[in-house]
Amino acid sequence: MLRYADIVLPLAQPAYTFAVPEGAAVAAGQAVAVQFGPRKFYTGIVWRVHDRKPDFKRIKSIHRVLYDAPLLSAQQMSLWEWVASYYMCSVGEVMRVALPSLMKPSGDTEEEFSDDEFRPRTECYVALSRELHDETAFHEACEKLERRAPKQYEALLELAAAGDETRISTGEVARRLLRADYAVLHALERKKLIVCTERERTVERGGSAFRLPELTAHQQAALDALRGEFAAGKTTALLQGITGSGKTEIYIHLIAEVLARGGDVLLLVPEIALTAQLIARMERIFGSRVTPYHSKLTNRRRTETYLRLNRSEGGEFVVGVRSSIFLPLKRLQLIIVDEEHDASYKQTEPAPRYNARDCAVVMARLVGGRTLLGSATPSLETWLNAASGKYGRAELSERYGDARPPEILVSDTLRAAKRGERKAHFNKLLLDKIGEALDRGEQVMLFQNRRGFSPYVECTECGWTARCPHCNVTLTYHKSGRKLVCHYCGYTAEVPAKCPSCKVTDVIPMGFGTEKVEEEIAKIFPEARIARLDRDSVTSEKAFNAIIADFEARKTDILVGTQMITKGFDFGGVSLVGILNADNLVNNPDFRAAERAFQLMMQVAGRAGRRAEGGEVVIQTSEPGHPVIRQVVAGDFGAMARAQLAEREAFFYPPYARLTSLTLRHRDPVVLRQGIMELAARLRVRFGRRVLGPMTPPVDRIRGEYLAGLLLKIESGASSARARELLAAELKTFSENPAFKAVTVVVNVDPQ
Ligand code: ADP
Ligand code: ZN
Ligand code: ZN
Repeated sequence: MLRYADIVLPLAQPAYTFAVPEGAAVAAGQAVAVQFGPRKFYTGIVWRVHDRKPDFKRIKSIHRVLYDAPLLSAQQMSLWEWVASYYMCSVGEVMRVALPSLMKPSGDTEEEFSDDEFRPRTECYVALSRELHDETAFHEACEKLERRAPKQYEALLELAAAGDETRISTGEVARRLLRADYAVLHALERKKLIVCTERERTVERGGSAFRLPELTAHQQAALDALRGEFAAGKTTALLQGITGSGKTEIYIHLIAEVLARGGDVLLLVPEIALTAQLIARMERIFGSRVTPYHSKLTNRRRTETYLRLNRSEGGEFVVGVRSSIFLPLKRLQLIIVDEEHDASYKQTEPAPRYNARDCAVVMARLVGGRTLLGSATPSLETWLNAASGKYGRAELSERYGDARPPEILVSDTLRAAKRGERKAHFNKLLLDKIGEALDRGEQVMLFQNRRGFSPYVECTECGWTARCPHCNVTLTYHKSGRKLVCHYCGYTAEVPAKCPSCKVTDVIPMGFGTEKVEEEIAKIFPEARIARLDRDSVTSEKAFNAIIADFEARKTDILVGTQMITKGFDFGGVSLVGILNADNLVNNPDFRAAERAFQLMMQVAGRAGRRAEGGEVVIQTSEPGHPVIRQVVAGDFGAMARAQLAEREAFFYPPYARLTSLTLRHRDPVVLRQGIMELAARLRVRFGRRVLGPMTPPVDRIRGEYLAGLLLKIESGASSARARELLAAELKTFSENPAFKAVTVVVNVDPQ
C-alpha cells in the first residue's frame, strides 16, 4: 500500500502531503528534499507518515531523504506545534527560525539544491598502513623510496615517528608536520603505504569535575530554596536577586549538577551584547563544555552545532540567544532564562512572533525538565506567577561581598533651570558629581534612551519639522554625517539650509539624543576621554567589543549610551551613573511604561559601583515625585509590582488578560479603513467589548504603507485556546474576502 507523508515546508502554509517512494525509510522529524510549486526544490520536515491518500490530482513523491537521522525529536516537534498554535503562525514559519539556514536549502533546480546540502567540515587523518607495521616491510618500503622518491621517503619517516594517526587539516599543517604536501601524501596513499581517513571534526569534551565558586550563606539558602521548589514538583521557579547578588553563581551550581549526571542545560541570554562576557565566565568554569549559539556565529558554525548536538549523548551546555530554544538537546533537564523580563526574548518580526522565555517554560514541561527564570526586576507576569504559587521562588536581596547598593539621587530639572543651575542638558548636581568622579579617577556612565543628535529639527519661525516621506515620523538629526535619518525605514536626507516652508530662518535641532550628550559633555569636560555606545557607533561586533574593551581597560572615562549600556556589563571602575531624562521613560503611553521604566532605571543603576564601595546614581527628571521614581529610589520592586498589578487588574491588562494585537497594512488608506472596520465589526460579534479599536498606531505610515490596529483582550486560562481558534477562523474569512486580499494582517500574540 502506498504511504504518504505530511511535510512541513519553510513557508507560511500548512503541511503538504507527498507520496513516500517505494522502499524508502521515512520517519517523522526527518529532513527531505521535495519539489513544490513550479520548479522549486525545498527542504521539508516529515511531520507525519500515514496511508490516507490526499484528494488532489497530482501527488508528487518525496525526492530524497536528507541526513541520516531525524533532525527533530518528538518533543521538539511538539514545541514547534505549540509555537505555531499559540503564536498563530504556520509550523513552516517556526521551521524558518528553528533550523540554521544552511540546513534548509532551496533551489530552482535539483543541482542547485544538492550542491547546497550541508555537510559538516571533515578532517583528514593519515597513518601508516597495516602492512607497514611490520618492521621488515617498513624497511623495504623505505629503501625503495629513498632512492626514487626522497620526498615521499621523508614523509613516511615523519609519519612513523609521529606514531598514531596524524591529523591534517590544511596544506600548511601538513607541510609543517610532515614537510610533505598533499601530492606526496596522495602518492603514498596510492601505493597503499598510508591510509587516509576522513572524519568529522570533533569537540574535545572536558570532564565533569568543575571548580565551583563557594556560595555565601545567603546564596546557599537561595540555592536550597530552589532545589526544594523543584523537588516539590514545581517545574518553573523565579530567582529574584538584585544586580551583583550572585544569581550567576547559583546558576553555575545548578548547571554543574545537571552536567554531572549527563543531562543537558540551556542558558538563554537576551542579547548577543551580553553573551561574550557571560560565555567567558562560564568557560572559566566549564571549559569546552560551553557551546555558544547566536547570530554572530557563522551560518556554518551554527549548522555544525545543530548537527553535533543532534547526535550528542548528553552533558551539553549551550549558552545562547532566543532561537537556541529550538536546538536538539536530547537530554534537556534545565533551562535557565537570565534577565527573563528582557523584551528581546520576544521576536516581533517576522513570524513566529514567539517569546523564548515562555517557550522555555513549555519546552521544559515537554521534556520533564525544569525552568529557572532569573532577574533583578522580573516581569509582572512572572512575578505574579511566583507570588500566586504557580512558580517556585527564591530571593537574593544583598550584593555579594562588601559591595553596597548605589545611592540614588533625584535631580529636578525644572528647579535647576529656574535657579540657573543647568548647563546644556545637565543639572549642576550631575555635573558636580561627574567632576568629582573624574577627579578620583573613576568612570562615569550616562544613559539617554534616544540615539542620534536630536529627535527632530524644527523651524522656529513657522514650526515646520522634517518628516520622512515614507513613514509618519519626524527625521532624527545625526550630526556626525550631517544627515536626517528615519529610524523606521532608514531614509536619509540632507539638512535644508533654509526652512523649506517659510524660507525665512534656519531649522534647528530640538530635543537630544546620545550624540548630542556626547558633544555637550566633551565641551564641559574637555580633558575626559569619552565614548558612545549605541546602534550608530556599533557598526559591527568588532566596534562593539572595542568600545567595551576600552571602557573595561579604563581607557575611557565617560561612556554615553542607550539601552545598550544597561545590560549586565560588569565594569569595576564605574562609580557614577547619570540618567539624563527619566521623563520620557515614565511618560510613555504604553501600559507597561511604569514597569519598563522601573526595570530600566534599576538596571542602569546596577552599573554603578558593582565592585567599588557603593556608587551613586543621579536621575534627572521634571517629576521628582512620580511614583515610579520614588519606587526606584527606594529600590522597592514589590511596591512597583503591587501598584502596577492593581492598575492592570482594574483595567484588565496582562497578566490578568492576554493581549493579541492585529495590525493591518495597505498602501491605500481607504481600503485599509474599510478592512479594519469590517474586521473590527466581525470580531465584535465574537468577542464583544474585548475588542479595542480600530486604533491608529503611534507611527501610522511606514515604508509607504498605512497602518491600523486592533487589540484583543482574552482571559488567561483554559478558554484562551478556544479564543485563538475563533480568532484564527475570523482572520481566515477576512483574508479570503476578495476586497481585502491585498491587506496584510500581522498577528502578534502577547505583544511587548
Ligand atoms: P548577578 O548575576 O546576580 O548580577 P553575579 O553572579 O554576577 O551577580 O555576582 C556579582 C559579582 O560577585 C561577580 O563578579 C561574582 O563573581 C561575584 N560573586 C558573587 N557571589 C560570589 C561567590 N559566592 N564567590 C565569589 N564571588 C562571587
Ligand atoms: Zn521612513
Ligand atoms: Zn519655517
